[in-house]
Amino acid sequence: MRSTTPNAAGALTSRNGPAKDLSPGWHPAARRIPSPNFDPRPDSAPPGLVVVHAISLPPDRFGGPGVEQLFTNRLDPAEHPYYATIAHLRVSAHFFIRRDGELIQFVSAEDRAWHAGLSCWGGRERCNDFSIGIELEGCDTRPFEPEQYLCLASLIAWLRLRYPITDIVGHSDIAPGRKTDPGPFFDWGRFGEALLAAVK
Ligand SMILES: [Zn+2]
Repeated sequence: MRSTTPNAAGALTSRNGPAKDLSPGWHPAARRIPSPNFDPRPDSAPPGLVVVHAISLPPDRFGGPGVEQLFTNRLDPAEHPYYATIAHLRVSAHFFIRRDGELIQFVSAEDRAWHAGLSCWGGRERCNDFSIGIELEGCDTRPFEPEQYLCLASLIAWLRLRYPITDIVGHSDIAPGRKTDPGPFFDWGRFGEALLAAVK
């Protein structure tokens, strides 16, 4: 089981963030593409889990608008055979990191995005309730880009200043047998090094 446990800095932080933050849960440097696919978290407990995903639309192709379209219910089922199988889904993630390291945000981290599906972590089911979902543009057959590790580490450092993050896991860790992402090419050691550098 892969997981990364932040150091004590995560326990010293507040979910409210700095007083000047007028949009709680929205990253100031992210390009915002609001998704309708979210709802309030079901209890007052702030998110303590980060789930790392990988996605590419069409599968194994990078750079197109498919992911933004899927997360905003605008995917055209006629555009690709695979799209016809998923266009009806109502899904989202909080964040999406493109191959060049661009950060896109769909849902405030204060709210519940719909990224994990049937899932369990630490004995708790429905991981969407208490997690933040981050999609990397990627697939099971190609390495991720250095800019993506840097962006992911910087983003998680930012999240840890606002939420009591205790675990960082892959989608495959919370839905084993059902999901494979972020896949064999996601380098957890490299990510851990980038995260250490980001919080220095
Ligand atoms: Zn996933």
